[in-house]
Amino acid sequence: MEEHKNFETMAVRTQNTRSDQREHAVPIFATSSFVFDDAEQARALFANEMEGNIYSRFSNPNNDEFIAKLCLLEGVEDGMAMASGMAAMFVSMAAFLNSGDHLLISRSVFGSTHQIVTQLFPRWGIDHTYVDINQPDAWEKEIKPKTKMIFAETPSNPSLDIIDLEWLGRLAEKHKLILNIDNCFATPYLQNPARFGAHIITHSATKFIDGQGRVVGGAIVGTRVLMEKVRFFARHTGPAMSPFHGWILSKSLETLAVRMDRHCQSALHLAELLQQQDGIAWVKYPFLPSHPQYHLAKKQMKLGGGIVTFELKGGLESGINFLNQLKMISLTANLGDSRTIATHPASTTHSKLSIEDREFVGISDGLIRISVGLEHIDDIVADILQAIPGR
Ligand SMILES: *Cc1c(COP(=O)(O)O)cnc(C)c1O
Repeated sequence: MEEHKNFETMAVRTQNTRSDQREHAVPIFATSSFVFDDAEQARALFANEMEGNIYSRFSNPNNDEFIAKLCLLEGVEDGMAMASGMAAMFVSMAAFLNSGDHLLISRSVFGSTHQIVTQLFPRWGIDHTYVDINQPDAWEKEIKPKTKMIFAETPSNPSLDIIDLEWLGRLAEKHKLILNIDNCFATPYLQNPARFGAHIITHSATKFIDGQGRVVGGAIVGTRVLMEKVRFFARHTGPAMSPFHGWILSKSLETLAVRMDRHCQSALHLAELLQQQDGIAWVKYPFLPSHPQYHLAKKQMKLGGGIVTFELKGGLESGINFLNQLKMISLTANLGDSRTIATHPASTTHSKLSIEDREFVGISDGLIRISVGLEHIDDIVADILQAIPGR
């Protein structure tokens, strides 16, 4: 592969070696296994004495191309494709944490990540402490002798809180902990956690990386040494990505930069406009000067991202009315799609949390999350404005 340095060019031009058919786009390697030339080659491949594909649970050319690109875009050495974002979250923790170990984890993480940490890990004797993303000063006190990993998400879902990655990188370094960042909301185009000292970066590729609502997928990337443990764990437990999904996601990365530019431009425009509306109590977007961590967002993110949240006056009822009034915008459990999506976390994704827990992670009853899509901004704005109660 030729070396390129600019993000867009790496995303477009990183490609597997062509076959003797001279294809331009890479073909889909729909094969469960790969043939050996002879018994000696089979032995050498299994003994790790030579590199090459054996079986698609371990590696596949399409997934490898997707991951080769993602590693370049994140600025890390190695990675592995996973069947889903949650497979990535689970494997990236389970590959390292042993019975008796302790995990320091931001409370503002994805719902299923909470379930892994609170419902599954205790069965295997893995302990955790939740810390508040808005109180970083309290994190260091919670580090114990058995703490092995710090896990955080920034910007967080759905509250869009930001944690200082440079500070977190130094904290992990000081205590010799593995720093694992779920970089799903920012994507490698807006933020590279490895630059600040993250050792493992996890992705739900289902969101902005695919960007078109087609596939469920995930990825773990990071340092070569740590990825060896991830690879061992995944090879034998089997959360492998399908080659077809690897092919789609490699293609998706080619357009990530142009899509993110538009998502972010439209999201900022929408956020600025919503700030002026009467029926709205507040608007949150990382690149709005009113965001509590605006300067931090500017420091570590290239643009503000594709998600805007706002609070409707009138609580739960207003939230439900708003969703019912939308004409174009989709009501669906996804984000990072080319189509704009509206979510009301209090009545759906976070309805199982107690009111106190919802408050703790910043989910009020009238909170609406908009994943700003690629439609014309005027059409997105018009649909949202006509649905705001009391207008
Ligand atoms: C969606 C999401 C996940 C889970 O990914 P799946 O692909 O749905 O398994 C994890 N983290 C964040 C921040 C997400 O938005």
